[in-house]
Amino acid sequence: QCETSYHFITSEDASHLLKKRKKFSHKGHYGHALLLAGSFGKMGAALLSAKATLRTGVGLLTCHLPLCGYSIMQTALPEAMCSIDHHEHYITEVPSLAKINAIGIGPGLNQHVSTIHVLEKLIQEAKQPLVFDADALNILAEHKYLLKQVPENSILTPHPKEFERLAGETINDYDRLKLLQEFVIECNVIVVLKGAHTAIALPNGSIYFNSTGNPGMATAGSGDVLTGIILSLLAQNYTPDHAAILGVYLHGLAGDLARETEGEEALIASDIVEYLGEAFAVLR
Ligand code: AMP
Ligand code: MG
Repeated sequence: QCETSYHFITSEDASHLLKKRKKFSHKGHYGHALLLAGSFGKMGAALLSAKATLRTGVGLLTCHLPLCGYSIMQTALPEAMCSIDHHEHYITEVPSLAKINAIGIGPGLNQHVSTIHVLEKLIQEAKQPLVFDADALNILAEHKYLLKQVPENSILTPHPKEFERLAGETINDYDRLKLLQEFVIECNVIVVLKGAHTAIALPNGSIYFNSTGNPGMATAGSGDVLTGIILSLLAQNYTPDHAAILGVYLHGLAGDLARETEGEEALIASDIVEYLGEAFAVLR
């Protein structure tokens, strides 16, 4: 049933959600994330997403990448482990899911038929919480039978165009919000509908509006960074609701802090990643 409740995420809400790290902890306490991302010409999306995953505090990260992404990732981000697909240009295999705490799929992917099979297999086999973005969403939109199989409480992070492909067209913002509520209730998933005021819709129909972020974040790769942040929180055992709400807030806050030095025009997605540390400091 639809609860139709609306919330505005405050800094107090976000601070409250943030877990403190324990002095006697080790990397095993902070989870192992798996990111399936990248294709020939779009390895930057995988890299941005992977960097954001690590900067958000995960213990371990494995990236499943096409062969062409191997040296790019290992060189640019030595902290990430790599699982390398046999295909040169796009992914065709599901890597081992053993010991993985959360899975992200989509940034820089493509929609090759082999990649569609990867998504299908992943949906059927994964017991871990999932976050879907970019071409993973476009595949779900093109193949609605797959959308129906997406495990409950999975997080989908569409921008408005991707949401339109998933759920259909609307004529105004009010209509889109209604459609968003119907969609999450029907599919039993969490949707992060991205924009100036990103709306996070939970499976019960309640909607949380974000209060951070700025137009400087309307830039290539910005969404890939958000996917990495949410993936990281999921791997650290945040509930999917909390991972979505805190992730969106942190992403916007890092963007706001980046704007103070970069300004809105010069801001690029890498800057959002670089300011995640300050964003955590503000919330602490
Ligand atoms: P994507 O289109 O997948 O790269 O995602 C864009 C990201 O940038 C989302 O997280 C949006 O919320 C954010 N974003 C885009 N435009 C704005 C804006 N005008 N104000 C605040 N955030 C924005
Ligand atoms: Mg995107």
